[in-house]
Amino acid sequence: HVTGVQTCALPILPSEVMIIGEAPGATEDEDGKPFVGDSGQLLNKMLKKAGIKRRRVYITNSVKCRPPGNGKPKVAHMKACSVWLKKEMERVKPKYVLLMGGTPLKAVLNLTGIKKIRGQPIEKDGTIYFPTYHPSYALRNPREKEVIETDLKVFRRIVRRGGVTPASDSNWSILQSLDDFQGMVEEISKTNWVSLDLE
Ligand code: URA
Repeated sequence: HVTGVQTCALPILPSEVMIIGEAPGATEDEDGKPFVGDSGQLLNKMLKKAGIKRRRVYITNSVKCRPPGNGKPKVAHMKACSVWLKKEMERVKPKYVLLMGGTPLKAVLNLTGIKKIRGQPIEKDGTIYFPTYHPSYALRNPREKEVIETDLKVFRRIVRRGGVTPASDSNWSILQSLDDFQGMVEEISKTNWVSLDLE
């Protein structure tokens, strides 16, 4: 582990928005930059679709070196790198942090269960953390791509609105299925005024 090339993030300091992934892969190891391989290409497309500009975001990884055998980082790897990630976060001072996958969820918030937790903001010490799946999960399961895309739109909305809007202030929801859509049509038929945000 200690022999790996460190992956550093782009030097935008401080940055309002931070994205934290898992660990460098082979391409990142060669380039010394995060998310430049296949997962990075997909991430770029999904960020663009959600209206998030990559160049305005500080992107880094939970684990700074490529894990042995290109495997998933173990808790020992996260612990070995936690001092660097903590220092990085202290310098970046993000207000909003996108956690991509179970590794940053564990490394940053010491939480497990990405499937249950994803898509919901978690506020801690004045920072809003937003867990979603890792892009490599969508590469392996293309049907999950939409879930990440929806999460990214929710995340962007939180950033644009400057936080999580209390439900009483705003009553919006994202339609994710035909059932949701039919529910919306039923709601619309009961009212005189409608405001829609189509994306
Ligand atoms: N996967 C990650 O989590 N980070 C990278 O930088 C590349 C792939």
